[in-house]
Amino acid sequence: MQPPERIEVDEPVVRCDGGNGALGHPAVYLNMGDKRAIDCPYCGRHYYLRAGARAGAPH
Ligand SMILES: [Zn+2]
Repeated sequence: MQPPERIEVDEPVVRCDGGNGALGHPAVYLNMGDKRAIDCPYCGRHYYLRAGARAGAPH
């Protein structure tokens, strides 16, 4: 068992397909909403916004 990956992103909506190997899954889009991080419910990857990136939808 490996710990979940932590992936820094620049936008609050991320596409995850689990990458290669056993954790792969159909591509899904994860929307952080007004949060700054989200865990993929399929593969458990933890995505978080880069410091300074804007959270939420653009106005
Ligand atoms: Zn995933």
